Amino acid sequence: MSDAEAPAEARRALVVMAHPDDIEFTCGGTVAQLSDDGWDVTFCLVTSGDKGTKDPMLGPADLGALREAEQEAAASELGIKRCIFLRVPDGHVEDGSEFRGQMVRVLREVRPELMITWDGYRGFNHRDHRTVGIAALDAVFPLSRNANSYAEQVATGVEPVRVNTVLLAGSNEPNYFVDVSDQLDRRIDALLRHASQVQAPNRDEMAKRMRNRSEQAARAGRIPWSEGFRRLTFGEARAPRRSDALKAEAKARAEAESSEHSETSDG
Ligand SMILES: [Zn+2]
Repeated sequence: MSDAEAPAEARRALVVMAHPDDIEFTCGGTVAQLSDDGWDVTFCLVTSGDKGTKDPMLGPADLGALREAEQEAAASELGIKRCIFLRVPDGHVEDGSEFRGQMVRVLREVRPELMITWDGYRGFNHRDHRTVGIAALDAVFPLSRNANSYAEQVATGVEPVRVNTVLLAGSNEPNYFVDVSDQLDRRIDALLRHASQVQAPNRDEMAKRMRNRSEQAARAGRIPWSEGFRRLTFGEARAPRRSDALKAEAKARAEAESSEHSETSDG
């Protein structure tokens, strides 16, 4: 294949969540749609869900390994090939400088233009969900973009990165909806892969639950078969026109000043 025929580099997205199955419950359809649209999507699981079981025989190491294998199988149902596991103990995610540094490093290494994470500001939610959502957002803005933040990473060649768009999942105030009506089968298959967590007797039952939820959404005036997010943008792509006009004005002014300056600088 000649260079001219080489496909453009895929757009990259990173999904940062607290536990295996968080992605499939909050944004599995969106992720599958991104994958169908040619995006290169990476999952980052902060914990491996190593505490949540009623089985006293299943210790944290075995449970964590089981949940990671389930997460990888679920990711593959959604068309995603790469899962990063940070293995912070389940229920003990702490928002400190060290954890934010881990988030910054993942962002700088994956270099996504879009990040999806929990809405850490939505009010009561699992402690890990809140903490991950807030720390991941702090990592996007401003930490991962400033070379002086976590400069030791930059010194080893991990460059700063600018994420343009963040979608906050599980938000009480969604302002952005993704149509996932084409993704019902893959969402069900992905959820069923979390067999140690998702108790559904079978596929039909799962489909019925999803249909009920969609009908409830429609009755409540929301868009059926959609996943809702709070969308935040940080890039220049969505800058209002007015700021383009102001920039052009400023440029013209600077040029006028510099030509005046060069005319008089010899005197
Ligand atoms: Zn969770």
